[in-house]
This record gives sequence, C-alpha cells and structure tokens, in this order.
Amino acid sequence: MFQQKVTRLRFLKYFLTALGTAVILSACDNSGTNTGSSSKDNSQTATAGKTIKVATEPTFPPFEFKGTGNEIVGFDIDLIKAVGKAAGMTVEFQNLPFDGMIPALQANTVDAAVSAMTITPERAQTISFSRPYFKAGLAIAVRQDNTTIANLDSLKGKKIAAQIGTTGAKKAKSISDAQVREFDSAPLALQELANGNVDAVINDAPVTLEAIKSGNIKGLKVVGQLITEEYYGIALPKNSPNLNAINTALAKIISDGTYAQIYKKWFNAEPPQLPETAPASTS
Ligand code: GLN
Repeated sequence: MFQQKVTRLRFLKYFLTALGTAVILSACDNSGTNTGSSSKDNSQTATAGKTIKVATEPTFPPFEFKGTGNEIVGFDIDLIKAVGKAAGMTVEFQNLPFDGMIPALQANTVDAAVSAMTITPERAQTISFSRPYFKAGLAIAVRQDNTTIANLDSLKGKKIAAQIGTTGAKKAKSISDAQVREFDSAPLALQELANGNVDAVINDAPVTLEAIKSGNIKGLKVVGQLITEEYYGIALPKNSPNLNAINTALAKIISDGTYAQIYKKWFNAEPPQLPETAPASTS
C-alpha cells in the first residue's frame, strides 16, 4: 500500500495563517442582559457567561464553510451557536485544519471542535465527545462515466483520494492494494477525482452529495450504499469541565425543536432520531 501526504507545506502555512485569523462571533444574543432572569438554568451556572474557543475547518459544506461575506456558516455553526446560547456561553471560532484539531484539543489551545467529527473509539481515547448530534456515513464517489466501481470490493488496487486525518482516509487505507492520496480538504480530494488523477474518493456522504448538487465539483456521482454509519459529536479536551453543560444544552435544543429547525434549514428534511450515545463505530 502506498500513501502520499500531499501538500504538507501548504498545511503548515494554512495552520499558521488560521492561527492568526481566528474569527470571533457571538453566539449569545443577549449576554449580559438576561443573567438575572435565568434562575431556572441552575445547572449551567458553572459555565454561564464563559467564552469558549471552538475549532472548525470551514471547507466542508454544508456543515462548515465560508459564506459570501467570508463569514463561517453551516449546520455545525448554527448548531454550536444554539448550544452556546442554551448554555449561556459565548462561542468564538478558530479555523484549523481537520488533522490539527485533536492535537489542539489535547494541548488545550481550543475548548472544543465542531467540524463534522465522527465519534470513534480510537479518538475517544484521547479526547471527549458530546452525545451524537448528527447521523452520517461514508460514500464512494467516482466520475460519472465510471461503470466498474460499485462498492468497497471494486476499490481493491485502485487509486483513492481522501481528506487527511478523516474516517474516509482510514477506510481507504484498509482496502487491499489501494493507493491512497490524502489531501488537506475534501474539495481538493474531489477535484483530484474530477481531474482524472484518482479512481474514487471516500468522504462523508452529505458533503460529497452537496458538492455534486451545488455544482462546485463537476462530473462526479456517488455509487452504492453508504459504507459506514457514523455519528458526529462536539469534540472536547479529555474530561473537559464544559462537557456536562454542552450535553445538557444539546439535549435542550433537541427537545425544544431548535435542532429540528436547524436540520430543516440545511437538509430540507426532518431529522432522524439520534441515539444518546454513538453505537460501536465501524471505523
Ligand atoms: N467525519 C469525518 C471524520 O470525522 C470527516 C470530518 C471532516 O473532514 N471535517 O473523520
């Protein structure tokens, strides 16, 4: 199996630039004005008024991406703002490459990461996850004219592109004789496929489908069934003091309809039922 880490230098450059350009957004519309009226929220007093620095990698539409005014938007962004509001916390965003997030959480340079991150047992050894907030899975994408790749089996010995540090890259590397090329972002991996340089991409299905639907990447299709079932969680440093407040806030926005509203806004559908803990992961 041969692997190639593409553009590590670019990654470093991006990492350093991102560090210098933290985007600050307030998730708490009326912080300071309602502190006296939230007596019902005693469980959250430990975190109320706190600012949390949240890492995200905004090249993953529709979860996190740059809007027309260069602001960060997406399902995850609305979700964490709603969580912050419910917990009485202000959210400040910081752009980080996806494979820099777990190290940043371990070093405590950020308080959380919301970046379509799949809850896996392996990651849960070094960081903590909130309860699942989104049900997803990996899909195989090929060029529209491809008639030979239909499932995982037919990827044996093929050239596969994926985003570095992701469950998609891990899955690709598990395929026998596959040549895996890893890219800093999902759009770069998909573009490599569109350009004819690899045979397939393994990536989160909602993101690949959105790239095709929006016309951002042309000439691709998704084949076969989802190859995994995955759940996204808000990632936190191991045993973070904010874990309880975030889980309480997530439960609140799921039960009061805010979650369904955000889901409908981005996916135009009713959300599926979410488990309280992620089932044993396939990755
Ligand atoms: N869900 C995938 C993972 O956790 C990809 C996440 C991403 O690229 N933002 O590995």
